[in-house]
Amino acid sequence: MNYNSTRDRKISVTSAKAIAQGLSEEGGLFVPESIPKLSREDILGLCDKSYPERAFEIFRRYLTDFTDDEIRYCVNGAYSDKNFDSESISEISHLYSGTYILELWHGPTCAFKDMALQILPYLLSCSAKKVIDGKDIAILVATSGDTGKAALEGFKDVPGTSITVFYPEDGVSDMQKRQMTTQEGGNVNVCAVKGNFDDCQNGVKAIFTDPELKAELDKLGITFSSANSINWGRLSPQIVYYISAYASLVKSGDIEYGEKVNIVVPTGNFGNILAAYYAKEMGLPVNKLICASNANNVLTDFINTGVYDRNRHFYTTISPSMDILISSNLERLLYHLTDGDDKQISEWFGKLAKDGKYEVTDAVKAKIKDLFYAGCCDDEATKGAIKQAFDEYSYLMDTHTGVAYKVYNDYRAATGDETKTIIASTANPYKFGKAVYEAVGGDTAGIDEFTIIDKLEQRTGTSMPAPLAATKTKTVRFTGSVDKSGMSKVVLDFLKSR
Ligand SMILES: *Cc1c(COP(=O)(O)O)cnc(C)c1O
Repeated sequence: MNYNSTRDRKISVTSAKAIAQGLSEEGGLFVPESIPKLSREDILGLCDKSYPERAFEIFRRYLTDFTDDEIRYCVNGAYSDKNFDSESISEISHLYSGTYILELWHGPTCAFKDMALQILPYLLSCSAKKVIDGKDIAILVATSGDTGKAALEGFKDVPGTSITVFYPEDGVSDMQKRQMTTQEGGNVNVCAVKGNFDDCQNGVKAIFTDPELKAELDKLGITFSSANSINWGRLSPQIVYYISAYASLVKSGDIEYGEKVNIVVPTGNFGNILAAYYAKEMGLPVNKLICASNANNVLTDFINTGVYDRNRHFYTTISPSMDILISSNLERLLYHLTDGDDKQISEWFGKLAKDGKYEVTDAVKAKIKDLFYAGCCDDEATKGAIKQAFDEYSYLMDTHTGVAYKVYNDYRAATGDETKTIIASTANPYKFGKAVYEAVGGDTAGIDEFTIIDKLEQRTGTSMPAPLAATKTKTVRFTGSVDKSGMSKVVLDFLKSR
């Protein structure tokens, strides 16, 4: 199985090359040349397997240039109870009959990014051995909050790698900032950017494609790679948990094999929901993919109208990991929906870069309508949904999951669809303690973050997970802050100093 670039399908590389390189040279994203299919027996066969064994079965079909032993080494290293507080790696909670919460936040940073970023360093070091032997890998990450910390935890002190993380100075929660600026490890660097997430992401993309910088790095024996959700090594692990969740629900008798489910995903960069799309294309019985956005509702409009228009106000919300106006992974979906029309993709994404806007064809609009439902809500409605879920079902959810839950309620009201539904829960509520405490009726005026968390514990009878509690006593190591134009110097200085 090879991987093509969305902007030039003549480019065809192994999975190791796609993972090691991150982004294709001409700016396209790597996509599998065909989507492997799972039969009924394949999916039923997963029911009695552990999470790493299920992951092995999925990866085997995508990473065909990896040996079975290599894949086993990767999945067993990443998905163990050393890194996750649950043996099942992701847990399923029953909200009410037929509505399930897929908790993807039982890893070391308490957000769903761990599901991919715990395994990425393994996939990347295996890939690097195959394709760029001898070179060190410098990971660059632009983060809207959760990716940064999860990548830092995944890569810290991994030999032959270093990692630099950029985050928007005022665009992350206090807890997220604390988690990143207190990061330990000898090969890590963290820097704030005076701008929003898109500035960080564009800055990182510019560094990747800067020929002068590349020449400097060649001299140092270093090559860049990405841990952002554009990397195939980030996306493929996310396919696993949807298939795994379905197998678990079949095993527990909650669903019968073949019964379709809806999947609701709180969406930002379109990585998580794209993984659900791949799972569906592989043969998982899925009815609708429900795309939930916050006030930054560019995807809601796109799915409903076929016009992608990023020229709009950028809102800073209580679900900051979804504060995104350019959802990079959408490019992969459109490539598949146009049957690999690389010219068309280049044209649309050229327009997006130039005018901030493009419109897809009627044929693509129809396919999108068939696959997806989209909705959005503001902070007020998100808090209302968190409160309602807590009051009625004693389930405390974070702000991102709150957006998904609200949009799901709207979907159900609008369509009357009672298909069983899996809601992806992307963060532990204590990562966004202030907003969650306010949602359940608490007053946060004038009190600090850790006091708020104490109060949230008392009010809800839940407790803060251990990895978050630990940040309380750690020292802040990284205080740097730069303009977008200063990002490449930060990277070069750090790499030269190592
Ligand atoms: C990253 C993130 C999202 C958005 O996921 P995408 O794959 O970028 O769509 C949602 N919620 C949380 C908590 C996240 O960290």
